[in-house]
Amino acid sequence: MDANIWTLGLDRARRKLRALESAARCAHQADPLAWRGRPIVTIFYDVEGDYARRGASHRELDGVGRILEIEARYAIRATYNVVARFALDVPSLVGAIRDAGHEIASHSYDHSILTRLPTNALIDNLCRTRGTFEALGVAVVGHRCPRSAWDERVLDALASAGFAWNAENGAEPHPYRIRTDSNRTLWRFPVACDDWPYESEGCSPRQMLERWRRLVEDARGRRSHVAIGFHPWVESAPGRASALDEFFHWLVEDAHVDVMPFGDVLRIAAGTPRRAAAYG
Ligand SMILES: [Zn+2]
Repeated sequence: MDANIWTLGLDRARRKLRALESAARCAHQADPLAWRGRPIVTIFYDVEGDYARRGASHRELDGVGRILEIEARYAIRATYNVVARFALDVPSLVGAIRDAGHEIASHSYDHSILTRLPTNALIDNLCRTRGTFEALGVAVVGHRCPRSAWDERVLDALASAGFAWNAENGAEPHPYRIRTDSNRTLWRFPVACDDWPYESEGCSPRQMLERWRRLVEDARGRRSHVAIGFHPWVESAPGRASALDEFFHWLVEDAHVDVMPFGDVLRIAAGTPRRAAAYG
């Protein structure tokens, strides 16, 4: 029990330290999207099936199906971070997401907490993930860690496995570079919030809708990019799909933002030096 409390305290301290390091890293870099007139909103999903929660697969599939329908109505393109083993279980799911024009990214091979894996197993997990999606005909360049648990070792492994972006929870105000070598750069997209308060705080669909809107409204003039995450199985509960529908309608019609997947934001951010020079 005592050891448990001690470990929890240590985890919290490490998270706090990483948050401070991330803030410092970001603060040393110019906002690569500052030259744009409108904020960008990235909608993303962690698609986990049974690998995060036993028995969630059918709700996951139901949720993805409904979300794809809603997104098609508003011509919204998003990022789906899929657990590779779940993609192998249901390859048609990956095909449906890809054919609808969305980006597919990694949420690890099997939803392992990557910070707890020995280095060899960590690298193997990430390489197997990319290999799995390649075999399914999808080139994956982005990754989000299960439970947003990451450390410097995970970042090194992501860079060496060939990933180009990583999205994790964080309050940093804009995307920034976290690893650079002679051949490639690994970008970090800070994630503002997700739909977990449905489960952890018992929030109603109306409360969640207000929360998401406030985040986007707060971004105007202060942030160039906001990433908001969802879990399809969480969204499959009664009343939640219609809140998502209302949020997307508002985003597209009234919010004065551009909505695009992480991969598209990456292309804009990485192309910035040339544009930044042109814009002074
Ligand atoms: Zn997850």
